[in-house]
Amino acid sequence: MTDYPHLLAPLDLGFTQLRNRVLMGSMHTNLEETGDYRRLARFYAERAAAGAGLIVTGGIAPNREGGVFPGAAGLYTAEDVANHRTVTDAVHDAGGKIAMQILHAGRYAYGPDCVAPSAIKSPISPFVPKELDEAGIEKQIADFATTAARAREAGYDGVEVMGSEGYLINEFLVTHTNRRTDRWGGSYENRMRFPLEVMRRVRAAVGDDFIVIYRLSMIDLVPDGSSWDEVVRLAREMEKAGATIINTGIGWHEARIPTIATSVPRAAFAWVTRKLMGEVSVPVITSNRINNPETAERLLAEGYADMVSMARPFLADPEFVKKAAEGRAREIAPCIACNQACLDHTFQGKISSCLVNPRAGYETELDYTPADRRKTVAVVGAGPAGLMAAIVAARRGHHVTLFERDAAIGGQLNMARRIPGKEEFDGLVAWFDVMLERTGVDRRLGVTATVEALSGFDEVIVATGVVPRDPGVPGQDGPNVLSYVDVLAGNRPVGHRVAIIGAGGIGFDVAEFLVDEGRHPALDLEEWLAEWGVVDPEKARGGLDPAGGHPAPPVHDVTLLQRKAEKPGRRLGKTTGWIHRLTLQRKGVRMIGGVNYERIDADGLHVSFGETRDKPTLIPADTVILCAGQISCRTLADQLAAAGIAHHVIGGADVAAELDAKRAIGQGARLAATL
Ligand code: NAP
Ligand code: SF4
Repeated sequence: MTDYPHLLAPLDLGFTQLRNRVLMGSMHTNLEETGDYRRLARFYAERAAAGAGLIVTGGIAPNREGGVFPGAAGLYTAEDVANHRTVTDAVHDAGGKIAMQILHAGRYAYGPDCVAPSAIKSPISPFVPKELDEAGIEKQIADFATTAARAREAGYDGVEVMGSEGYLINEFLVTHTNRRTDRWGGSYENRMRFPLEVMRRVRAAVGDDFIVIYRLSMIDLVPDGSSWDEVVRLAREMEKAGATIINTGIGWHEARIPTIATSVPRAAFAWVTRKLMGEVSVPVITSNRINNPETAERLLAEGYADMVSMARPFLADPEFVKKAAEGRAREIAPCIACNQACLDHTFQGKISSCLVNPRAGYETELDYTPADRRKTVAVVGAGPAGLMAAIVAARRGHHVTLFERDAAIGGQLNMARRIPGKEEFDGLVAWFDVMLERTGVDRRLGVTATVEALSGFDEVIVATGVVPRDPGVPGQDGPNVLSYVDVLAGNRPVGHRVAIIGAGGIGFDVAEFLVDEGRHPALDLEEWLAEWGVVDPEKARGGLDPAGGHPAPPVHDVTLLQRKAEKPGRRLGKTTGWIHRLTLQRKGVRMIGGVNYERIDADGLHVSFGETRDKPTLIPADTVILCAGQISCRTLADQLAAAGIAHHVIGGADVAAELDAKRAIGQGARLAATL
């Protein structure tokens, strides 16, 4: 008897059957562009072997003008087809099924040759697209169909036609981007013509016994987006035109509403998919911020959808389905929706990986194979670096002892988990806890490791982390000054008016903690939707509240400062920084760059500007909080060196600058894989 009867139930598509209701959603890894198809094949095959019901690849362009960026992968030649065969063969050998996503980026294509229904530039691209003429439209449709036929030739079980997220097909559907007056614009019937023609021609090109998924934008979250009537009409027409399955798309890339970030509640948009249930007779898939089998099972059991799509959770743990099926759900490495190693990498042209699972995308080079010789390994520090090192070393067969001075594991993760919108870090700490137990790591909590205690081990790993940097501001020893550590630990009262010294990741986190103190909109869907102004698309086009969002008033009055003259928050995550900045702006947080810190007194923080230190200004504050970065904690490493004991230093103890959990976990895993 399984805990997930709906999730693990097969899905009969008539001409073929899927073994369960889990779609591994499309995720561009950038491996597609490396030309290393063996590596891409291994990436998908591991996920197929562990039970994903149907995999959808990252977006493959139907032609060069439609590539997300110049040089984006396409399926243009016989050689491309043969290369993709490597992938489909590997997935089939592993017992899985795989569909190829066809993605035409339209005006989001990052290059001067981009095309769109109308020559309207997107706010997130510098390029004005060329307006397609009649022949150009025919070419785009023909290229979709040809690509689908080639996908079949390459051995795929299906294709997904990407019709959402503001890409070309979506651009035809709404007046926001389609101002045409010919038969491809104007009435909805005309605006639907392009998407439907694509579907008809794709279906004709691949025959009846081939999966064709249509990813339909069910809530655009942009002005002048689709109405709900239009969404339903499109879905019905798509079914008639040949779609086997309708998948959910949520929000355009240019939307200023978060849709997948960690601060978005779990399954925040499943209610949109549920509205479509019963309107079509083909299966409907739901998507976005579903990261564990319990949530997925509940959605299916309660009739939100026929199938559940998860993309990033399959980076975090290829064995998601297998572990769920074997009653080992607690061992599933959780996707915390941080985007740090996946989407942030994708948009920086790097290989997508995962903060929680550094093997993702590196399956052919980072393996946790059993060690030749069982060693005794001491790990000092149970923050993310030490925890990952301990687990990987133990999994490889070593006898691992983990020393932690605190009474609990987690290190800096225990601070992150206190920030509203970062509740997913709870799950990460819980996962580490389970894995320490499963791999048999000997935990010594509340124990400060000494040089003597470490002298007998074969390997010593120092992961002692970081301590706050002393910014040396005159007056910082006053009673109105706190470190971020005190604030996040919740053991010191904070006044109403707050000045924060340092606008890095932690300065932003502390500001969010204070403006929302005691509130957790990420755990309350209704509250979160109201904050961001998301409404039922039946009430307003695109699901955008015409009155805008309704953020709760800030609990504290916060000013965030930095010395650099650049825009505060510029160095935050590529795909999430804007959310942090917008969240704080909407809560009235003032952000000031280019300051010199002159002194702190009972009135607040005194600053000046520029090299000449002019414009002396008082930032009135009841409390000043120091978030000025960190330095490595290397006392133990230095003592070991002095005693001549060989050791490895990882995480923040190694390099504190620009430390984050991604680097810490990656370094821990990579070191432990070599011991
Ligand atoms: P950080 O990002 O390096 O920021 C340190 C801040 O302190 C900067 O604003 C810096 O700005 C300021 N600063 C540096 N030296 C100073 C000095 N001597 N006096 C006064 N101010 C000084 O470090 P963090 O905020 O402590 O975060 C630590 C790491 O965790 C970072 O790598 C961060 O990316 C990561 N993190 C990420 C997130 C996220 O949302 N992704 C959240 C939390 C933490 P100026 O030098 O311009 O004054
Ligand atoms: Fe999820 Fe973060 Fe991993 Fe991306 S990097 S898959 S968001 S945990």
